[in-house]
Amino acid sequence: MDKILVIDDSAVQIDFLCSILKNDYDITACQTAEEGLRTAKEGSFCLILLDVIMPDMDGFTVLKELKGTELTKSIPVILLTSLADIQYEERGLLLGAVDYVAKPFSPVIIKARVNTHIQLYHYQSQFKEQALVDELTGVPNRRRYEDVSAARWQEAARFGLPFSVCMFDIDKFKLYNDTFGHPAGDQVIATVARTVSAHFQRVTDLFARYGGEEFVAVFIGNSGQSAFSFLQAVRKSVEDLHIPHNSPVSKWVTISVGGVSVIPKTGDNYETCLKLADTMLYDAKRFGRNQVVWFDENKTHLREK
Ligand code: GH3
Ligand code: MG
Ligand code: MG
Repeated sequence: MDKILVIDDSAVQIDFLCSILKNDYDITACQTAEEGLRTAKEGSFCLILLDVIMPDMDGFTVLKELKGTELTKSIPVILLTSLADIQYEERGLLLGAVDYVAKPFSPVIIKARVNTHIQLYHYQSQFKEQALVDELTGVPNRRRYEDVSAARWQEAARFGLPFSVCMFDIDKFKLYNDTFGHPAGDQVIATVARTVSAHFQRVTDLFARYGGEEFVAVFIGNSGQSAFSFLQAVRKSVEDLHIPHNSPVSKWVTISVGGVSVIPKTGDNYETCLKLADTMLYDAKRFGRNQVVWFDENKTHLREK
C-alpha cells in the first residue's frame, strides 16, 4: 500500500482524513511539525498532507524545509487550508506544494486529489529511473555513470580511499555483427552486461554501459592488486559463457579490460584517471585482447598475459 504522511495539529482532522483514506492507503499521522519533518525523512512516503496553520511551526516553514532536504524534496505535498487562510494558497504553491484542499474537506475531493498526485508521483519516479538505465541491457547508463563516478571520486579523495575505474570492450565485435547479424550482437551486449554486472555487488559499486559495446565500472576500497585479480575473474566469467564467435582471438566472445587504481588527493583530476584506464584498455587490445591490464597505486603495470 502507498504511504501517506499527514501533518496536522488537530486530532479531529487527522481522524477524519484517516477515515477517508485508510482503506486505500497506509497513513502515518503527526501532530507537530517537528515530528512530521523527522518522520518524512525516515519513511518512504508517496504524498504528504500538510496543515498550514499549526502552533509550533507554520506549514510554509515545514514545506520549505521539506523542499530543501534531499530525502524529502521530491515527495508531493498537498496543503490543507481553511477558508480563512485561502489567501495563502498562492504562497504555498510557489513554495512547491502540488495542490491544496480547502476545509471543510469533501471526502470525494480529497480522495480524487490524493489519487491523482500519487499516480503522478509514480509516473515521475518511473520516468526518473528510466532516464538513468540503459534500455538494451538494463544496467545504469552513461548519465548515471557520470553522476556516480564524480561522487565516488570526491568521497575517495575526502576519506583517503583507493579508487578504481575500468573500461571494458567486447573483442572483435564488428566481426561478430558482420557474422551473426546486428540483432544477435544486441543480445550479446545484453548478456555480457548482465554477466559482468552480477560481479559488482557492493552498494558503492557502479557498473554502466558507456556506449556501444563498451562498459565502465567504478568502485572504491580495493588495492590495485585486488582490483586486478577481481577483474580477471570477471573477464573469465564472460569467456566461460561460451558464446560462439568466429574471431582470431578466441572461438568464444571475450572482453578486454583496462583499469586504474589510485588514492586520489584533493585537486587530482578524474578525467586524467579515466584516460589512463582507456590507455590500459588500449594496451590490453594491443597485447592480444581477452585480458586485463591494470595500473596500480604504486604506478606498476599489472598484466595478465
Ligand atoms: P576490438 O574492440 O577488439 O578492437 O574490435 P571491435 O570490432 O569490437 O571494435 P570497433 O570499435 O571497431 O567496433 C565496435 C563494433 O561494435 C562496431 C559496431 O557495429 C558494434 N556496436 C556498437 N554498438 C552496438 C550495438 O548497440 N549493437 C550492436 N549489435 N553492435 C554494436
Ligand atoms: Mg569499442
Ligand atoms: Mg570492441
